[in-house]
Amino acid sequence: MRKIAVYGKGGIGKSTTTQNTVAGLVELGRKVMIVGCDPKADSTRLLLGGLHQKSVLDTLREEGEDIDLEDIRKVGYGNTLCVESGGPEPGVGCAGRGIITSIGMLEQLGAYDEDENLDYAFYDVLGDVVCGGFAMPIREGKAQEIYIVTSGEMMAMYAANNICRGIKKYAQSGGVRLGGLICNSRKVDREEELIVGLAEALGTHMIYFMPRDNMVQRAELNRKTVIEYDPDSEQAQHYRNLAKAIDGNTNQVIPTPLTNDELEKLLIKFGLYD
Ligand code: ADP
Ligand code: MG
Repeated sequence: MRKIAVYGKGGIGKSTTTQNTVAGLVELGRKVMIVGCDPKADSTRLLLGGLHQKSVLDTLREEGEDIDLEDIRKVGYGNTLCVESGGPEPGVGCAGRGIITSIGMLEQLGAYDEDENLDYAFYDVLGDVVCGGFAMPIREGKAQEIYIVTSGEMMAMYAANNICRGIKKYAQSGGVRLGGLICNSRKVDREEELIVGLAEALGTHMIYFMPRDNMVQRAELNRKTVIEYDPDSEQAQHYRNLAKAIDGNTNQVIPTPLTNDELEKLLIKFGLYD
């Protein structure tokens, strides 16, 4: 089983990209579990047709420790297994606790056991800077492979670089590796070249350039992935391509994060700064 975490700046498109990619992996015949690790608990809604999944933390709060796998794991599109970790109320406690509790509970209930026949577990993790609880999948080897969603916008690249710092820090002890950058386009000038350049500087590759397309919003309004909503669309094909690229990816590295100075030089090189 491959355990993959998707990181990136808030709002960059982690949940959208992850769910659509998972739908693409399902078409390849893969069995996938997806664990939302964002207190917003919106990592699985497109796979569950908008159903509001009760989070692990809420279930534990309301029903106590004695729960079954089925209480926290729902079956979604293409037999995907969907879990939402949830989080504390805003401003109360560490949001990262949800992840720690949730993965622990899934392990305890046998969600990763061999007879589950999982090909992939995906963690959709919030966080620009890999700190505290949000670093947990990396720190404790719960995720072995990281993909960072970014765009050519400076703050998204800045976050991507910070996440690389976190990966590097734990790569020796936990064995985590960076599988690549996914560029989720914001239609920034020379965006593809820029992210290819950033990837190269970080010692990795841009695994896919995902175009920005309103089809994503149309599908979202219908509470579906693009692959389910309009399987013949170009955007659906792009998500299938990304799924295939991840399925066959052997490029796994310990990243070489940049200093803030180096990052700015890269932006200047691509003419994004005057
Ligand atoms: P995150 O999980 O990183 O916070 P989301 O996946 O929720 O971000 O994405 C934020 C918004 O961006 C979504 O509402 C979605 O409609 C939009 N979005 C994401 N990717 C694309 C894309 N490739 N084209 C158009 N809109 C996109
Ligand atoms: Mg999200």
